[in-house]
Amino acid sequence: MTGLLDARSVFRSDRLSAARNLAPSETAAWRAVARVLRSPLDALACALLPADCRLCGTSLLRLSRVPVCDSCRETPLQSQNLCPRCGEALAYEGESETFCDPCRLVPPPFTQAVAWNLYQGRARELVHLLKYDGLLALAHTLGRQVAQATQLLDNLPQEFTVTSVPLFAGKERSRGFNQAALLSAGAIRPLRKLFPGHQIHLSERMLSRVRATESQAGLSPAERRRNLRGAFFVPKPQAVRERHILLVDDIYTTGATARACSEALLKAGALSVRVVTLSRAQHEMTAQWEEWQEAAAVY
Ligand SMILES: [Zn+2]
Ligand SMILES: [Zn+2]
Repeated sequence: MTGLLDARSVFRSDRLSAARNLAPSETAAWRAVARVLRSPLDALACALLPADCRLCGTSLLRLSRVPVCDSCRETPLQSQNLCPRCGEALAYEGESETFCDPCRLVPPPFTQAVAWNLYQGRARELVHLLKYDGLLALAHTLGRQVAQATQLLDNLPQEFTVTSVPLFAGKERSRGFNQAALLSAGAIRPLRKLFPGHQIHLSERMLSRVRATESQAGLSPAERRRNLRGAFFVPKPQAVRERHILLVDDIYTTGATARACSEALLKAGALSVRVVTLSRAQHEMTAQWEEWQEAAAVY
C-alpha cells in the first residue's frame, strides 16, 4: 500500500503545484478536469487500499488479502514450563523433566504434541476470524505458525505425512470448510522450507469422523475420551501404514481429540503420530474455554 499511497500523494502534489502555476481562469478549468479525473481514481484507490485491522482497528500499512496488522498476527509464545509430552503447563518451576498428571496417569498414544501459542487474546481472535468469520486467507499466516510450531518437536522423522483432524461431514458442509485442513494446507510450503532435508507429504482425509460427537462442553477429560472413542476411523489403512504422521488441528484443549485421532491412526498401522496445533488451551483456562465452546458448538 505504501507504493499506492505514494502514488496518490504524488498525484495530489503534482496537481496542486500545477494548479498553483496556472492563471486563475486556467485554474478553474484545471479544477474541473481534475474533479473528473479524481473521482474514479480516488474510488479505485479506496477500493484497493486496505481497511483497518479487524482486531485492533489501526490502519493497515500495505495491501493484503488478510485485514489483520502485523502486530496482531504476532501472538505471544508460551513461556511457562511445559509438559515435554503434551505441552500442558506444569504447576511448578523446575519440573521440566516430569510429565503432567494426564500424561503420567494415562500416557497419550501420540509421541509428542506442541502448539504455537496460548489460546487467549489475539491468538483466540485470529482463530475465530478463520473459523467463524470465514476469513480463509488467514490460513496462510496461521499455517506458517503451525509450521514454526513443528520446529518445537523433538526428533521429527526424515519422512512424514501431514494430515488434519476431520470435522464430521455434516459440520464441514454447514461451515463450508475444515479449519484444520486449511491450516495443514497452509503449513505445507513453510514446512518444506523449514525442513529442507525432509520428505514431507500432505494427505488430506486420512481420518474420518464417524459421528457427530456430542458437545464436549462440561465433560471431564475421561468423559471426553469416552465420548470420542470410536469417533474417528481411517477409511484407507494402506495410506497410513508404515508412515510417520504429523496431525494438525487448530486448538488443543484436553487432548481428547488428539488422543482419539492418534489411536485410530496407530491402529491403522501408522508408525508414529505427532500433533501440532496452532493454539493450546491451558488447564486453568479450560472452564472458560468450555463455556465458549458450548456457545459455539464447535464439534
Ligand atoms: Zn491489529
Ligand atoms: Zn502432558
